[in-house]
Amino acid sequence: LLIVVEGIDGTGKSSQVKMLADALRSIGEDALQDREPSDGPFGKILRASMTEGRFSPDAELEMFHKDRRQHVNDVILPALEAGTHVVLDRYYFSTMAYQGANGFDVAELRETNESFAPAPDILFILDLDVDQALERIGTRGDEANEFEQRDALQFCRDVFLSVKDESYARVIDSSPSIETIHAEMLKLALAEIH
Ligand code: C5P
Repeated sequence: LLIVVEGIDGTGKSSQVKMLADALRSIGEDALQDREPSDGPFGKILRASMTEGRFSPDAELEMFHKDRRQHVNDVILPALEAGTHVVLDRYYFSTMAYQGANGFDVAELRETNESFAPAPDILFILDLDVDQALERIGTRGDEANEFEQRDALQFCRDVFLSVKDESYARVIDSSPSIETIHAEMLKLALAEIH
């Protein structure tokens, strides 16, 4: 199965991806823990740009799409064909959210991505109130920046929630403990696997 974990910063995506992949492996399932931007050539460039200086919005979007095409063709599809579950930290819903927040049309971004990237079997939307998320990522103090960031995060949260009625979507309340969330996600994943 292609199992995708999405959510705004502060929802605990990365911890959950690791815990879910580990738990699946511990019960004998083949599971690949994976992420986007990917660890391929374009993903590496994108990761470096997040700390060393970002591209223009247009160039960045092009790079995200190059990375995703490469990742889908070279990693995701071969793994799925081999019967390996892929547990993915961010996917094209993040492009809809973050590049959407940068001004690109969300519906168009979705259409472009769904023309070449397989839809997930399960999409976990880790959902958290934006104020709680900001508290967790600790940006208090710089009020102007916090205001700007609050708006952008709210936009991203709304984009993630906009796909909640898809048959593959599972909205997960991210306010309880890491262990509680993990147990809920594992239960839902196993229901889909068996
Ligand atoms: O995956 P991770 O939480 O490390 O992502 C860090 C940041 O990368 C996000 O807060 C977001 O600003 C940025 N990002 C983005 N566009 C994406 C994915 C991530 O701008 N499609």
